[in-house]
Amino acid sequence: MTTSGDTPTSFSASCGSSRLLRFGRSIVGGLIGLLFPPVCALCGGRSESLRPVCPSCEARLPELPGHRCLRCGEGLADPSLDLCLRCGTEERAVDRFASLGPYDSAWGELVRALKFDGEMAVGRYLAGRMAVRLGEQGTADAFDLIAFVPMSPIDRRERGFNQAEVLARGLGRRLGRPVRRVLAKTRVTPPQGRLTAKERRTNLRGAFALLRYGGERVLLVDDIGTTGSTVEECARVLKRGGYESVAVWTVARA
Ligand SMILES: [Zn+2]
Ligand SMILES: [Zn+2]
Repeated sequence: MTTSGDTPTSFSASCGSSRLLRFGRSIVGGLIGLLFPPVCALCGGRSESLRPVCPSCEARLPELPGHRCLRCGEGLADPSLDLCLRCGTEERAVDRFASLGPYDSAWGELVRALKFDGEMAVGRYLAGRMAVRLGEQGTADAFDLIAFVPMSPIDRRERGFNQAEVLARGLGRRLGRPVRRVLAKTRVTPPQGRLTAKERRTNLRGAFALLRYGGERVLLVDDIGTTGSTVEECARVLKRGGYESVAVWTVARA
C-alpha cells in the first residue's frame, strides 16, 4: 500500500472537519446575532435582518440617477448615447464602469464605515450587493478574474487593510471567482479628491506596477470611482500588461 492510498481518507477527513468547523462557526455566529442583534451602520437602529444595514435603510439606498456613460459613469443628457464626449473621442483603458450608487448618499457613509471604522461586516455586505447587481445584469461571468486597486505599502500598513481588497475578496467568495493581486502601488500619492482635474491626471502616472501578466478579462474593484481617476490608470497598466479587457466596479461614484 502506498502513501497515496491514505490521501483520500485524510483529505475527506480534513474536509469534513473544516465543514464541521464552518457549521459550528455559523451556529455560534447565529447565537451571537440573536443575543446581540447588529446595529444598522446607517441609522443606528437594531437590524432585525442580522445584516449591518436594516431593511428600511436598505430600501432607501439610491441607484445612480439618469442615463450613464458606459466607460466612466458620467451622467448623459441624451439617452440615445452610450458614451460621453470624452470617452467617445479619447482613448480609454476602462471598457466598462459601474457603481452601486452615488457617493453623496448613504453609499458614501457605508464606504466610510468600512474604510475609516474598519467595519468588515459592512465590507461583506457591500460585496454582496455588488454580486447581486452583477447577477441581475447578467455580467457575473463576463470576466476571468477579480482584481483590486492596490494601496501603497505605507498606506496599507497604516490602515491595516485595503478596503478595495476586502470588497474584491468578498465578491470573489460570493461569485466563486478567483481574486488575484495583479497590481502594486509603488509610491504614496496625494488623495485624488483634493486635486484639480489636471493634477489628478499626472498625480498617478507611474504609481502602479504590474505584478502578473495575463490575457484574461479583469473585473477591477475599488471603493470609490471618480472621473479620470485611479481606475483608469490601473486599467492602462493592465492593458499594457496584455490583459484583454477591464471592467470596473465601485461601490460609490463621486
Ligand atoms: Zn437603518
Ligand atoms: Zn465617459
